[in-house]
Amino acid sequence: MRYHVLTLFPEMVLAGLHTSIIGRAADRGIISLNAVNIRDYADNDYGKIDDYPYGGGAGMVMQAEPVYRAYEAVADSLEKKPRVLHMTPQGRVFSQEMAQELALEEDLIFLCGHYEGIDERVLEEIVTDHVSIGDYVLTGGELPAMVMIDAISRMVPGVLNNKESAQFDSFQNGLLEYPQYSRPQEWHGRRVPEILLSGHHANVEAWRAQQSYLRTKERRPDLLKQDNHKNIM
Ligand code: SAM
Repeated sequence: MRYHVLTLFPEMVLAGLHTSIIGRAADRGIISLNAVNIRDYADNDYGKIDDYPYGGGAGMVMQAEPVYRAYEAVADSLEKKPRVLHMTPQGRVFSQEMAQELALEEDLIFLCGHYEGIDERVLEEIVTDHVSIGDYVLTGGELPAMVMIDAISRMVPGVLNNKESAQFDSFQNGLLEYPQYSRPQEWHGRRVPEILLSGHHANVEAWRAQQSYLRTKERRPDLLKQDNHKNIM
């Protein structure tokens, strides 16, 4: 998987994704991260890429041409036309299901806005998906792109090892994951559920499935109304 992030803050994206599991996957060549500075495509010597909005109003708007040129620099180097994901609070809300679907692509371009956003005309010309990470407004698209890259990478074969497997994670089967415990067996007077110490694999699995369902019912009953849980009891 090759990620290309069009941004005004490439150092933020690179620094944020070069640690732990995602950083190791990049070091091993399973994923790659190309952060492209949109300012490098400004049509002036001082790297100005924003201007006042037509019609008035607060803030500045990122201009179409530098964004388009940054996009072209990436897209022209690829064999196949890639999906271009525009980070925007006005998009479809990102989900585990989308992460799984996007992990099948070879290249993904993330377009990060800033200020009041990006001139609509270039969005119409290059964007294939408008994606939001939730119903709130951030200052820029860099954190959303990083959130998505992290979640998508976990779905790319080879990024997680067996110990880190995503198979039982929350949302993989439409439910939240069961509670987890580690040593010691007793902490602050709270004991690990006896069944987890029993060594009886089938009983442990049944308990976990039940806990997964109960937890979902308590914390996210909306998920049970959706038609995508395969393990429901
Ligand atoms: N004026 C825009 C609006 O009301 O829809 C918001 C612009 S926001 C201050 C600046 C940039 O942050 C956006 O262009 C987008 O790239 C990013 N952004 C903010 N919130 C986001 C969210 N929830 N999901 C994805 N991107 C977001």
